[in-house]
Amino acid sequence: MLLTITLTKPPATDLGYLLHKSPGRVHTRSLAFGPSHVFYPEATAERCTAVLLLDIDPVGLVRGRRPGPSLEPYVNDRPYVASSFLSVAIADQFGTAMNGRSKERQDLADQALPFEVGIPVLPSKGGDMLVRKLFEPLGYAVESVGYPLDAMFPEWGEAPYRTVRLSAAIRLRDLLSHLYVLIPVLDDQKHYWVSAPEIEKLLKRGEGWLPTHPERELTARRYLARQASLTREALLQLVAEEDEDPDAREVERDAEEAAVEERISLRDQRIGAVVAALRATGAKRVLDLGCGEGRLLSELVKDHTFTEIVGVDVSARSLEVAARRLRLERMNERQRERLKLLQGALTYRDARLAGYDAAVLMEVIEHVEKGRLPALERAVFESAHPTHVVVTTPNAEYNVRFETLPAGRFRHRDHRFEWTRAEFATWAAAVGDRFGYRVRHLPIGPEDTEVGAPTQMAVFGR
Ligand code: SAH
Repeated sequence: MLLTITLTKPPATDLGYLLHKSPGRVHTRSLAFGPSHVFYPEATAERCTAVLLLDIDPVGLVRGRRPGPSLEPYVNDRPYVASSFLSVAIADQFGTAMNGRSKERQDLADQALPFEVGIPVLPSKGGDMLVRKLFEPLGYAVESVGYPLDAMFPEWGEAPYRTVRLSAAIRLRDLLSHLYVLIPVLDDQKHYWVSAPEIEKLLKRGEGWLPTHPERELTARRYLARQASLTREALLQLVAEEDEDPDAREVERDAEEAAVEERISLRDQRIGAVVAALRATGAKRVLDLGCGEGRLLSELVKDHTFTEIVGVDVSARSLEVAARRLRLERMNERQRERLKLLQGALTYRDARLAGYDAAVLMEVIEHVEKGRLPALERAVFESAHPTHVVVTTPNAEYNVRFETLPAGRFRHRDHRFEWTRAEFATWAAAVGDRFGYRVRHLPIGPEDTEVGAPTQMAVFGR
């Protein structure tokens, strides 16, 4: 597998000083899984390219392993693609440069210089979009070319490999750190067992860029081989670095759910559908029950038909995030009258919630233990007793359509249940009967002829 790094500013051969590798010869080092070589196919004053070639020994990879029934350990893409093996080779060959030091050209090591990077075969679990989402926020111009899995059978779709070129004016240490972290993230595999020290590596190599990266959750989760406890800890430290304090656990789980659903930006469609349903009821004073981090609230405040908006959640951390998102502390008296956040549990009657036109329970009921659901029903439909109630919840039947969701798993680890359309309809009808509401059901998201839409919505009116 290959990685090329090109400096395009004269005198470009200074790249040799920056990498501590003279362009005049081949630099070979041996690693447990095979030798790596650094050499320069071009070294002129205008352009100088260093190649890192990693010659993985496929037999070495399986040596010492007990043979199993699968051929996968013997026949796989590892020798040919950029992966965590390449990260190890980057650290091994370019460790000093990645730490920002240059014996002869420290001033250049400290400067942003025009670099081009070529990764001929980069596995991207997430396609072109993920390559862009990871590198573009760091200032790179990204070119990424995909390939059909088999040109003879276009219907098989794209192969998971891309040829990627990146260019940016950047410090070499940052460039190497980005590659070191993000190549295994795109590949979404690690060749070694990932344990706690890996958090240290991630924080060290992510210093200065990862805490503010929009894809920091995905990056941490994948870098830490999807081990929830490690990811949680890394995210806590990352957000501590950014001097924020959202509930990292909720953030991470939200990110997981978002990743499962991202193909169709379901979250946005859900918010759109709920706002539309509220408008259709003519409601002016509305409750967002289980408002979480306030995504729906921030849409509701934009619409001035809503004269009073109240967000309620049991999680103080979520409410803090919501308050930041809504810039609550910058509001004037009048705006504050219009938008309020209350902490409260929806399974208890709460006099503050009585007398509103409409209440929303968006993706909330499935977070409540089934045994506590009747308490929530009484608190909302009987005690608060709004004129309309809008409830959304996942349609469990649709889960088979989410490629990244393992069979039988819920979309979010805090979900206590996920209902089929029939189960939701049965519940809604019973609640409507008991408390005197009519019910209408509406799908949210692309409707599948067999399994329906990904999200289901019930609109109750009395
Ligand atoms: N409605 C938001 C958040 C959904 S996540 C959205 O769609 O983006 C579920 C939210 O319900 C979480 O913020 C959780 O804190 C809240 N929640 C769960 N059980 C609750 C309860 N019994 N009382 C109040 N809030 C609850």
